[in-house]
Amino acid sequence: MTSPAISVDSLVKRYPQVTALAGVSLEIPAGCIYGLVGPNGAGKSTFIKCLVGALRPTGGSVEVLGIDPVADRWRLRRRIGYMPQEIALYDDLTVRQNVRFFGSAHMGVGLDAAVDRVLAFVELTDRADAPVHTLSGGMRQRVSLAGALVHPLDVAILDEPTSGVDPELRRAFWDGFRTLRDGGATVIVSTHQMSEVVECDRVAIVNRGRLVVEETPEDLIARGARQVRIRRKDGTVEEVPVGDYRTELPGLLGIDVETIELVQEPLEDVVLRLIEGSR
Ligand code: ADP
Repeated sequence: MTSPAISVDSLVKRYPQVTALAGVSLEIPAGCIYGLVGPNGAGKSTFIKCLVGALRPTGGSVEVLGIDPVADRWRLRRRIGYMPQEIALYDDLTVRQNVRFFGSAHMGVGLDAAVDRVLAFVELTDRADAPVHTLSGGMRQRVSLAGALVHPLDVAILDEPTSGVDPELRRAFWDGFRTLRDGGATVIVSTHQMSEVVECDRVAIVNRGRLVVEETPEDLIARGARQVRIRRKDGTVEEVPVGDYRTELPGLLGIDVETIELVQEPLEDVVLRLIEGSR
């Protein structure tokens, strides 16, 4: 088995008034998209800041690519891309200059081509020469993401990269994260949007500084209770809990069919189709 990209053991971060992380342990396998999912205030940003060495834990240990993020912060920074939740850009510089600045900290050769590639990814090529202060909030966020991804990296750590991003671009972002993963990178994405769970290979659900559950989206979905509601022509209604409705439904209906399956188009596809149809 390959060693995990990230190992976190009993991680605690206490502030004077609040315990932001109350003992989180998890391992993030290399080469996956790993979601940190939880409501606002759950501790996601605190966790991420501990991963990148921006915060010193109160207790427990963290290793990213075998490196201690606090002791060896700058060695680690060369190998990771970090998009913080608080966007830090130079307002008077252009989009391209900002992204170039982030890239120049880690690479020399090939920087211009890398800047062009990442600006295309965040769909800001046509605004490349605009000063950042002329951009909308969502666009600034895209510049920040571009800055995080411009240099070659083994791990991308992205704090709510899709919040405030419209559905079409959000889909492009997730496609981009999959491309990064398929190229061998580990991608860690935090989100408070529960619907994004399905985009990840594995997720950690966090709440009040604790890990609630850690598993694949498929296993999470399988936890959901299901029941079939049958309304008869005589007006009676019956609700029957089912496990695998595909095989149990024919028996309930007393028909000679092996399986019945409902195939639902994803909501996102429906919305995008409507948007495309309205152009
Ligand atoms: P999330 O990213 O999931 O929204 P955070 O990690 O930002 O959550 O916050 C977790 C908890 O820690 C919250 O209660 C927040 O108010 C608190 N917190 C975060 N940063 C600080 C800080 N610098 N000082 C005091 N409390 C903080």
